[in-house]
Amino acid sequence: NEFKKLGIIDEISKAVTKFGYLTPTPIQLEAIPVLLDGKDMLASAQTGTGKTAAFAIPILQRLYEDKTDKRLIKALVLSPTRELANQIFENFNAYSIYLGIRSVVIYGGVKQREQEHQLRGGADVLVATPGRLLDLVNQKIVDLKDVSYFVLDEADQMLDMGFINDVKKIVKMIKTERQTMLFSATMPKTIEKLAAEVLKDPVRVMV
Ligand code: AMP
Repeated sequence: NEFKKLGIIDEISKAVTKFGYLTPTPIQLEAIPVLLDGKDMLASAQTGTGKTAAFAIPILQRLYEDKTDKRLIKALVLSPTRELANQIFENFNAYSIYLGIRSVVIYGGVKQREQEHQLRGGADVLVATPGRLLDLVNQKIVDLKDVSYFVLDEADQMLDMGFINDVKKIVKMIKTERQTMLFSATMPKTIEKLAAEVLKDPVRVMV
């Protein structure tokens, strides 16, 4: 199993195989060992490259190996849209079937009641759109103090949709001792600038 060669534990490689993946994609080959090693990453990757698994698998593995503080939000993934947030959430669920790690997804445009209910059940991983996340943080329903893994997915789209100030507010709430990953289809100056602000000595990956 070629996933195992990347350093992925059996509990995850089994899940990935069950999900029908035979071999890692190029971004997975590049990103997974680096992220398992705890480094920050700046990746330019389009949807369809397998980028979600490239960050979800290492995060899940590290959470599984940490085994501390169950059901506190230790990983936060920011997504610009509800659709992408749901896809990311489904990826986390698929790869964690043998891990006992719980993920929750929150996004705007729907009543918050059901999301509140999900959050009350506890979450290790939270996938969120920026506006709804800030709403729930302001209401003290979500606490970001335990976040150690932070992903900004489709960062260019996030900026295009006007989320830059929300993103910056969220970044300020997360401890600086964290592993941060920024994924973007394009790398305009504004993204480079944001990357310089949120990443520490990142490994750059391009696919
Ligand atoms: P993404 O770029 O993360 O949106 O993934 C695009 C699609 O590729 C999704 O449907 C994934 O389930 C699928 N995928 C991700 N990694 C692999 C892999 N190693 N082998 C086959 N399909 C994959």
